[in-house]
Amino acid sequence: MSGQRQAVSQVLVVEDEEPIRRFLVTTLEAEGYAVHEASGVREATTLAGNRRIDMYLIDLGLPDGDGVALIQQLREWTRRPIIVLSARSQEAQKVEALDAGADDFLAKPFGAAELHARLRVALRHAAQTTRDGQSALTIGAVTIDLQAKSVSRDNAPVRLTATEWRLLEALAKRSDRVVTSAQLLRDVWGPGHDEQGHYLRIYIRQLRQKLEADPARPAIVLTETGVGYRLLAGAA
Ligand code: CA
Repeated sequence: MSGQRQAVSQVLVVEDEEPIRRFLVTTLEAEGYAVHEASGVREATTLAGNRRIDMYLIDLGLPDGDGVALIQQLREWTRRPIIVLSARSQEAQKVEALDAGADDFLAKPFGAAELHARLRVALRHAAQTTRDGQSALTIGAVTIDLQAKSVSRDNAPVRLTATEWRLLEALAKRSDRVVTSAQLLRDVWGPGHDEQGHYLRIYIRQLRQKLEADPARPAIVLTETGVGYRLLAGAA
């Protein structure tokens, strides 16, 4: 797998718990990544400024500062993928981190397969944002064409309302990654609608009815409990 990569991707791991950091470093190095490690915010800031980092893995509970503040700081100058490592007790912080610009999260404990899947998705999307073209997404029987703004299922056109389309587009542009409810509400309904999660639930249900083989057991528009939604394109 690592042989497919053109250049070695440099990953900065920011994690204060030694066993988890060791696991990450060993696993990532085995997969061919070059890994830099930091155990706190200060060390991370220095490394981020001195190295050409392609991707960040950031734990939210750090001894010398706030992981969310670190993400906000990084987002002032870099668009490289940031994946948050969160414990079950950090649900609220996880959402804050995603809203601050993190691309995705891994909930502890996580395994090597999950880690690599998230990293591949993040790197692929980072590469895509610098290209144009590629505008159609095929997920099983469903094809979403972002340029033509059209959707088909089993080769038959699916009619979406303007709002349903904006919601699907917001999810498709970040396919395979989590999008928080606040981000979706802002993208689809505009600023000032952050509290109107019920709109979102109604339109997600409508989308599932139009796209999913079994709307009660969604395989395309997944719920990330307490966080938001993820359009599973399965490209990981
Ligand atoms: Ca920690």
